[in-house]
Amino acid sequence: MTENQFQNFIKFLQKDYNIYVPVKEASEVVIKRIESSVDVEVIHELPLHGWKKFLMPSCHAMFNFDKEKLDYISPVVEAIHELPLPQILLGVSTLDLRAMALYNQAFEKDPWYQDIKKKTIIIGQSLAPKDKYSFWIEKFEEDQLEHLPFDIFIVVKPDNKDKYKIFTGSEDGQRLLDKYGDKNYEHADYVGPNREEGFDKRMNDVREAMKNKHNQKIWDDLGRRCIECGKCTIACPTCFCFDIFDTPTKEKNQGTRERSSTSCFYQEFSEVAGANPQASKNKFLKTTAERIFFWYEHHFVRMPDDYGVVGCVACGRCSKVCPVNIDIFKEIRKILGQLEVK
Ligand code: SF4
Ligand code: SF4
Repeated sequence: MTENQFQNFIKFLQKDYNIYVPVKEASEVVIKRIESSVDVEVIHELPLHGWKKFLMPSCHAMFNFDKEKLDYISPVVEAIHELPLPQILLGVSTLDLRAMALYNQAFEKDPWYQDIKKKTIIIGQSLAPKDKYSFWIEKFEEDQLEHLPFDIFIVVKPDNKDKYKIFTGSEDGQRLLDKYGDKNYEHADYVGPNREEGFDKRMNDVREAMKNKHNQKIWDDLGRRCIECGKCTIACPTCFCFDIFDTPTKEKNQGTRERSSTSCFYQEFSEVAGANPQASKNKFLKTTAERIFFWYEHHFVRMPDDYGVVGCVACGRCSKVCPVNIDIFKEIRKILGQLEVK
């Protein structure tokens, strides 16, 4: 597609969808809904807060319950949230597509996630992120496409007259392009998140090192520095933990069950009931060092072990937002034994 054809395609999509795109505002990149008259620019920079809120709203009602009418609960599969669906997420980097591959695995059987996903079109793009906090960034090659989940993918070739080479990755993507009347695309079948040889080697090395070469000094040092603000978990595209709570209504035995995103750095996160009736607060994570180890272990060990997808996409957002300058890439090098632990 030429630039002009691309802009016309976006305008065609706007008739049926709310379209969100990363936009540079002052020194930061934010995700904004596009106005009908505005031309869309595909940019290199990563939005500070990624796309997860468009697929997993930070707070939403899962269902209403009425214990009088039914023995227990009456599930309403369609969640009550504020997302104006259907939506298109346009200009998603390959890093953030990898995070979406993880959500797809982790929330494979979650009806609320699946419901939102059904009403969402993902349009990925090939520009490599330009951000000083990102690390291990790979040059884009078309053979990566079969491992990325998307409906449409745009390979950007800035110096070509046909600046955008289009791929589809789903029937929805094909349907949209066919309806628009552009047959000039290729199709890439999704074969799963990992290459034949398995996890990314560098990430797998971190996983192995965390399992086999535990160095407590790293976690003790981080435990002294981290202030448990939780900003890294909010910014991280692969953090998806949530709390569940019930909000009762005035009627007896009725209410709404809701879920909202949370952080493993918060004190309440690791509180458990019942272990010791004498203790008012039982926590399975008692110290800051334990919490930050738990966070790293979740990303580098438990996510790949549980879902078959690496839990870090190397975007560096956690380093960018950390108020005490904890830099994940430095810590990874310490875990790998490449940097001295003082
Ligand atoms: S670099 Fe940090 S923010 Fe990005 S995916 Fe990895 S842990 Fe999350
Ligand atoms: S952003 Fe930094 S200080 Fe805040 S919880 Fe994360 S590691 Fe700790």
